[in-house]
Amino acid sequence: MLMRSPSLLRYGIYGVFSVSLLWAASIGFGQSGARAVDSARLRQAPADEWLSYGRDQAETHFSPLRQIDATNVSRLSLAFTSDTESSAGNLEATPIVANGVVYTSLAWGELYAADARTGRRWDPEIPRTPEARPSMCCGAVNRGVAIYNGKIFASLINGRLVALDAETGKLVWSEQTTDPSSDMTITSAVRVVKGKVIVGTAGAEFANRGYFSAYDAETGKIAWRFYTVPGDPSKPFEHPELAEAAKTWTGEWWKAGGGGTVWDGMAYDADADLLYVGTGNGAPWNRMYRSPGGGDNLYLCSILAVKPDTGKLVWHFQTTPGESWDYTSVQSLILADLNIGGRARKVIMQAPKNGFFYVLDRLTGEFISAEPYSEVTWATGVDPKTGRPIEAPGVRYPEGSVVISPGSAGGHNWQPMAFSPVTGLVYIPGSNNSRVYTSTPDFVPQKGKQVTGVQMNSFAEGISPAGARITNKGNFLKAWDPIAQKARWIVPQMGGFSGVLATAGNLVFAASDGRLTAFSADKGEKLWEGPVAPGASTPITYSLDGKQYVGVLAGRGSAQAPSKFYSFALDGNTPTPR
Ligand code: CA
Repeated sequence: MLMRSPSLLRYGIYGVFSVSLLWAASIGFGQSGARAVDSARLRQAPADEWLSYGRDQAETHFSPLRQIDATNVSRLSLAFTSDTESSAGNLEATPIVANGVVYTSLAWGELYAADARTGRRWDPEIPRTPEARPSMCCGAVNRGVAIYNGKIFASLINGRLVALDAETGKLVWSEQTTDPSSDMTITSAVRVVKGKVIVGTAGAEFANRGYFSAYDAETGKIAWRFYTVPGDPSKPFEHPELAEAAKTWTGEWWKAGGGGTVWDGMAYDADADLLYVGTGNGAPWNRMYRSPGGGDNLYLCSILAVKPDTGKLVWHFQTTPGESWDYTSVQSLILADLNIGGRARKVIMQAPKNGFFYVLDRLTGEFISAEPYSEVTWATGVDPKTGRPIEAPGVRYPEGSVVISPGSAGGHNWQPMAFSPVTGLVYIPGSNNSRVYTSTPDFVPQKGKQVTGVQMNSFAEGISPAGARITNKGNFLKAWDPIAQKARWIVPQMGGFSGVLATAGNLVFAASDGRLTAFSADKGEKLWEGPVAPGASTPITYSLDGKQYVGVLAGRGSAQAPSKFYSFALDGNTPTPR
């Protein structure tokens, strides 16, 4: 064990420590029985660690740990904080914990590792002037790293995928996964499946064509790439699925890229050997300018199941056919085994931006059910047979404007939801919001400019793609019963907030506006809260030497809100940092 509780307690006495020394080498990583993180261990997802983005491959953001529970959480207090020295920028990463070391990405592709004694930032030195980097819709954020076989993997905002030695933080390999002259970025957490690093893309507000790729974890060599939308049909399609997809597009869709970037949700079912990936909105948003003769525009706004060895598509399900409202389907994907109508079902669940909560059979892609989890006015429901949304009249704003809910912020965005197999509930960090959609007249896509085909300054109660204006009707934390398809409890008016952690201690944690809060998982009662910097990401939990910690990354890398990793434990005794 590397990160012993005595040293944590010592930091408790000495207070906040600084991470200016080495990565993890000085703590003897690799010398004291550190366990290799291989495919078997990723599949097992040991309870005391947080080995991958969603803790397990089903991406539940649930921990079986229960030392901290609903009866004693009132004793939770700060065990230590660690200054990440992050540059200015928002934090959206879920940290991972392996062999007593916390690893995470920060803003601008900076990476961080720490134990109770030491840690180090790794700065990829990405040029930050607008002329020297891709245009970004939503900040230089990153949602997390992966660990496998002695290496840490991270995707960077400038489209690079890097592998670092987990012990020393030294760069092992680096691959450019995008065209560097394009406005393609990467913000999603990377995952490792069967020795392959799965990496997405971001930037469908610009003239980009989405894809996701698999790279060999040892060599950095590309294994396969799956394009989510078809390219120019006068050239050969890169893979056969695109010939099928092209039948659902019209006009000269490839000229503005088409969209369908892959910037968030993934999951893996090792038994079925299926990798699940969610895809994003169309580029431009407005289908009238993207595919003027109509069409569903596969594989935009879809959940895809592919074979991880080859990238071959096994099934797809499109949540929003003919997307025109930035209704991405990239949001958290969670796998669960549920008893529905007396039948044991292996399901995949998603609360995409379009406001409906979907339950699908994850082996076949068969639609099971969908009901609104947030305010929805763009559709009156989802057809129970086909799974297609029933659109409200006028919703495609062919001329003039329409105001609908959700707006482009979505009923749910990047914040991970969690599923507790103990309560059987999904905890959704969502919001009720709306927006005005107005067609841009005389639309011409231009490099470096947002190519939505929608007037971007016409908001009602929505959020701009740049995240600049948040005037929604209130974020909520909703405990959702995925079998009954209804809410069991709701915390309204959560403020701007993080993703969610659920634990077997009948607890749900979420951070909001400078505090981390614990709710009872079964009833939603507020049981505890502790101060953290504003701008918190998604909480995690782990256990070292028999002591359970709840950790969260928070701050904005500014003098007012420096970025720190906060770790709480029962009867932690560090004074709250200023
Ligand atoms: Ca988008």
